[in-house]
Amino acid sequence: MSFEVDLLVRNASILTMDDDRPGARGLAVHHGRVLALYDDDSADGLRGRAEIDAQGAVLVPGFGDAHNHMAGFGLGLDTVDLSGLTDLATVYDRIAERASTLPEGAFVLGTGYDDTALGGHPDRYALDRAAGGRPVWLGHRSSHVCLVNSPMLAMLGLLDGTAVVPAGGVVVTDADGRPTGLLEEQAQQLAAEVLRPVPVDMLAGALGKASRVYAADGLTHVTECGIGAGWIGHSPLELAAYQRIADAGELLTRVALMPSMDSLHPLAGGPEDPQRFGLDLGLRTGFGDDRVRIGPVKIFMDGSLSARTAAMHEEFCDRGSHGYLQDDPELLRAHVVDAHAAGWRIAAHAIGDRAIDLILDSFEEARRSHPRPDARPRIEHAAVTSEEQVARMAALGVTPVPQARFLYEIGDSMAAAVGPKRVDRLYRHASFLRAGLRVPGSSDRPVAAGAPLLGIQSMVQRVSSGGLVIGPDERVDALTALRAYTLDTAWIAGEERSRGSLTPGKLADFVLLGDDITTIPADRIGTTEVVATFLGGTCVHGPREW
Ligand SMILES: [Zn+2]
Repeated sequence: MSFEVDLLVRNASILTMDDDRPGARGLAVHHGRVLALYDDDSADGLRGRAEIDAQGAVLVPGFGDAHNHMAGFGLGLDTVDLSGLTDLATVYDRIAERASTLPEGAFVLGTGYDDTALGGHPDRYALDRAAGGRPVWLGHRSSHVCLVNSPMLAMLGLLDGTAVVPAGGVVVTDADGRPTGLLEEQAQQLAAEVLRPVPVDMLAGALGKASRVYAADGLTHVTECGIGAGWIGHSPLELAAYQRIADAGELLTRVALMPSMDSLHPLAGGPEDPQRFGLDLGLRTGFGDDRVRIGPVKIFMDGSLSARTAAMHEEFCDRGSHGYLQDDPELLRAHVVDAHAAGWRIAAHAIGDRAIDLILDSFEEARRSHPRPDARPRIEHAAVTSEEQVARMAALGVTPVPQARFLYEIGDSMAAAVGPKRVDRLYRHASFLRAGLRVPGSSDRPVAAGAPLLGIQSMVQRVSSGGLVIGPDERVDALTALRAYTLDTAWIAGEERSRGSLTPGKLADFVLLGDDITTIPADRIGTTEVVATFLGGTCVHGPREW
């Protein structure tokens, strides 16, 4: 007797990430899910409507990214790319080049500039000249500050003093009190008001482009960290853009969407309903399907290390400041407690150790006032943590979501910011594991490169682009890093029963790699070929015939 399945993959070297069955040679897929694994090429008499000879390639579960900005990355593909530039003259040339293709008065948008590499932020007046009087907006690589030129400052009411600067933000001025064009943190909302909402059509187009890149990177699931309102959101209709491309069959990656805390509002429920704070209709974490789902709510406690706006207990070593919180601490705490009470899972951006203390206090209070066994609270980045904070996170069951790739891309700048006394506290990994915590893999793309294999390499090496090894005791082996990008990203999304390992019954999301990343030298992991990516048993990247 033989049974026909949708897809058979033979002759593969499978790392299932399932402890009950770590390896296999073949995989049967039916109706989008893993039906069976087998150890020899007989496949227990199964036949496949489609059959693939993997020719010995390594097959692993599809990669997840627990923290990325897919819309921002996709939209950024159409802006002037300023990443990697090391002199300001080239920035002005690139802006002039783009401006010359645009009508008068059109916005000139650039992304990814790095003031550390450039030796300073671009000059507002030089941008005026380069853009021929057009308004210019440049996004810093951290996303936590942006730079605008004079026409845009005028538009925002920052030259005539009519603008109201939001709390938790700074409009940077020079010695004479004139705006330099630099808008920090919540002050970016001023620019967002003229640049947004981004039309849903444009968002959907950007997401489609991003999705193709993601499939080529082996990503089958990502969490989008901040949609809707606030400086991080692109439109109050942002979720509609994801639904649109999913319906059109152009979403090649499963997504969980985190509404920003600013998107939540009081709801008119009955007096006994706990859902008093949320999205219309009471939608919250978990709603949706296996393509597009509502994830946790995202709240910003502080800023970033690269922009020196993170809230620290002690001053930055190269700047006479402690950074700052994004709002009044009482208000931030109240938002966390209210959203938790309404049934939301909470993802709190906290980088500096002072911000981390505040969010741990808030999580502790939320848990005490409204006990919920499976709330899975998380700290995005958890960048600078003391031993005591690691222990407290473990005691409260708070998952850190750090970005190992930052160590390579901005490690030298972060090390300078915190100095030698605190450098080993940066973006820990092994310490979190030793404390019994999980560490899901993530990139914060487009803040850092988003390919999971690069992230895995950085988890293993922890080396900066300048050659500094940051926190050598925090390194992990490649199999542990692979677990972070598969099982643990599924777990933090609350989807460990349907994804994260190649186990019969789970979604058939998997990747074929050109090499075994758990055995090759670490410096080759990031450049390993992603031969093919399958989502629900369908090839979304790879050879045409598959
Ligand atoms: Zn982010």
